[in-house]
Amino acid sequence: MRAPSNIFILSSLLLIPFFTLAQNWCGAVHQSEIAVAQSMEDRPKMEITIPVVVHNVWRTEDQQISLEQVQSQIDVLNEDFRALNADVGDVHFPFQSRVADMEINFVLATEDPMGQPHSGFIQRQTNESNLTGFLGGRRKLCYDDLGGSTAWCTACYLNIWVAELDLEQVAGIGIFPTDIASGEVPAAEDGVYIQTDRFGRGGELEAPYDLGRTCTHEIGHYLNLFHLWGANTPPFDCIPSECCGDSAYDDFVDDTPFQISTYLGECPGVGANSCVITPGDETDNVQNFMGLSPDNCIFMFTEGQKARVWEALQTYRTGLLAADCLKSCMVSSETEAPRSNDLMLVRQQGTGLLYTETLSPRVHWELFSGDGKQISTGYQEFPGEVRINYQNLPTGLYFLRARQGDDWQVTKLLIARN
Ligand SMILES: [Zn+2]
Repeated sequence: MRAPSNIFILSSLLLIPFFTLAQNWCGAVHQSEIAVAQSMEDRPKMEITIPVVVHNVWRTEDQQISLEQVQSQIDVLNEDFRALNADVGDVHFPFQSRVADMEINFVLATEDPMGQPHSGFIQRQTNESNLTGFLGGRRKLCYDDLGGSTAWCTACYLNIWVAELDLEQVAGIGIFPTDIASGEVPAAEDGVYIQTDRFGRGGELEAPYDLGRTCTHEIGHYLNLFHLWGANTPPFDCIPSECCGDSAYDDFVDDTPFQISTYLGECPGVGANSCVITPGDETDNVQNFMGLSPDNCIFMFTEGQKARVWEALQTYRTGLLAADCLKSCMVSSETEAPRSNDLMLVRQQGTGLLYTETLSPRVHWELFSGDGKQISTGYQEFPGEVRINYQNLPTGLYFLRARQGDDWQVTKLLIARN
């Protein structure tokens, strides 16, 4: 038996408004830009392999996907992120020298967070038809109890949800690491969400969106890449002299030229240039994965994008770089509360020590086991830190209940392997 010594906290309840993401087929949300260094020179040569868990949440049988389809998507990712895609040779000449091998591999997880063998593929039937909607500040898609599928430890796994996204013209959403770091999106919802009929390669998918590039693109967002025109879609009547070069429409990557056209659904030719500022300036990188052209017209990431991605990995997604991440990363905690304000937050895990914080005065708290046995309890007159020792507790499910008068809040904790 493995010694229990870690509690992983996956969610803190945040009330986030429901975004209407219906402007284009990619509904990635993002909050803020943080400037990053673009130099790759001080980074040692390395590559990583990210364990992936795919959650197929389906309501009707046509929303079910096969393991074969899942594997076809993993194959696409391993091609696109290593510049091994068969169509990379079609990159227009000016950009051929900028094609990047991102040095990122993907593999279906072979064990679950409890250390048990697993296929890395979860299928879950639901009655919920509005999975991308929110209930109590939680996106339904990402929680078992709301009709979705609860993430595996998002610090260590890339969670991909495949479902009917029920957002008009949105085929995928990728969560930016900055949105997790800022708390804008709970860690329990970290990952990418892909529309069922855009996931994988071939099978029953319809051309030209049958090559798995929606997922490649959304993982680009998950790794902190913006669209080529930045975080905001430039207005149609944008004048190049005003919009090109405006930081509002910049992707903060050095080697992708300014671009203000999305080319949504189009495959522009080699000379396409939406930012003609000076005669003879660079054409748009229309074949980049971070554009919105169909699957059969996007073939590459650039070296500049690679630099930005690795900076993000080293800043925000360090769990994906840690060889032993899964040893200390545990499943979920979920907080339920019939109120808009949290009483008690789990701040961080320690080895055998849970760091929590009460946010209101006069909070009673108690930790009890899955079978209802009280383990420890306390009272906080004033808001502040509470440390709870769990070093000698066996592996299993626990609950932390905070109470203040008639208000209460329960956080579900899973103590798992070391
Ligand atoms: Zn996008």
